[in-house]
Amino acid sequence: MFTVSQNKPLATTITGSLPKPLWFTENLRRRPFLEAMGSDYQYREQYFDAVMAVISDQIRAGLDIVTDGDLRCDSDIGGRSWFGYLFERMDGLGDIAMRHGGSEWAAKTGNNKSTKRVDAPGDILHEVMETRLPPKILGPIGRGSLQYDAVFKAAQRLTKWPVKIGSCCGQMVHKNAVNDYYEKPIDAVMAFSEALNEEYHSVADAGAQVLQIEEPCLHFVAGTAWEVSLDDYVTAFNREVAGLRNRLEVWCHTCWGNPLAQKVEANYSYEPILPYLDQLDVDVVTFETADNNGAELEAIASGIGMDKKICIGGVTHRTLQVESPDQVASLLRRALEFIEPDRLLISSDCGFGRQGMSRMHAFYKMVSLVKGVNLVRKELGFETTVAPAALGRYDFLTHD
Ligand SMILES: [Zn+2]
Repeated sequence: MFTVSQNKPLATTITGSLPKPLWFTENLRRRPFLEAMGSDYQYREQYFDAVMAVISDQIRAGLDIVTDGDLRCDSDIGGRSWFGYLFERMDGLGDIAMRHGGSEWAAKTGNNKSTKRVDAPGDILHEVMETRLPPKILGPIGRGSLQYDAVFKAAQRLTKWPVKIGSCCGQMVHKNAVNDYYEKPIDAVMAFSEALNEEYHSVADAGAQVLQIEEPCLHFVAGTAWEVSLDDYVTAFNREVAGLRNRLEVWCHTCWGNPLAQKVEANYSYEPILPYLDQLDVDVVTFETADNNGAELEAIASGIGMDKKICIGGVTHRTLQVESPDQVASLLRRALEFIEPDRLLISSDCGFGRQGMSRMHAFYKMVSLVKGVNLVRKELGFETTVAPAALGRYDFLTHD
């Protein structure tokens, strides 16, 4: 159901992650969140202060829906912790499986002549893949010590703005793990979906108004001979979000990759998977649209049904050049040719990550995003959002 975006045409947010403040040097290092927060004073103080800092940045930028910056994620390599947080905490997962290039994939698919970047030594994505250290599935998958409800509460207690918590989705964890337990791949995928569904309901129990499930595998496997079909991925995703739309606003995030701010494929198109994305039981689907300057806006608009809202990326996570408000506004005007304003939301293409850019770059991209959206809001006669960073005043309280 619509909560945070209800009656908020052109609401703004970011995908999730923000660069960690430089002084936030502590990491969970495989510990459960509550163990670190309960027994490690240094971690607890840095974590709360850092979440407060990134929420404050988002409020000063003027965003309508804020995130906790994914600050539970460790400073590891190439955004590994987006998967790793789950790898290290879910039940049923065991040893680290080293992966050298695509050898595991080659064994699975019988394709020994891969032309993928992850399989090519000397490619940044090859190094990313070597540092993923995915786990083996050794027993029944369970939610383990994800503790997303505690993660949500830690952030929401700091602000009256709604906090959007996000999680890597179960099928993406499965796709990267090595299954040594379940007979069929789809059984393992469904086990992840069921475990995460329980976990997400605990976030709803904690009072969250919005939740973002990140990256169904659909757009990464379309057109390949992968071991799980697109239809099965839709079924599994809908199992993962079952019952949640009655309780909060459910977002599905999609993009074309973010390891070290890289695109994982040279060319990409959402078009073939739009009929599948449209079957997902969610309120909002996000699309990466700033990176290719809105090339697929018309197709996206016609491919997603009226029961859902569409969230477009207004700034990219891949470049350090901060988009101008005019650039953001012009992309938004083109989106509005195909999408009604009360169905349209604006975000970053993906998270600003931990190794892609500095905190300042991310901050000014968020300010530009809001300034650009405000230009269009004015043209449409909508109320604009106060972006304190753009006021040039020194008397604005960012919190109350
Ligand atoms: Zn993304």
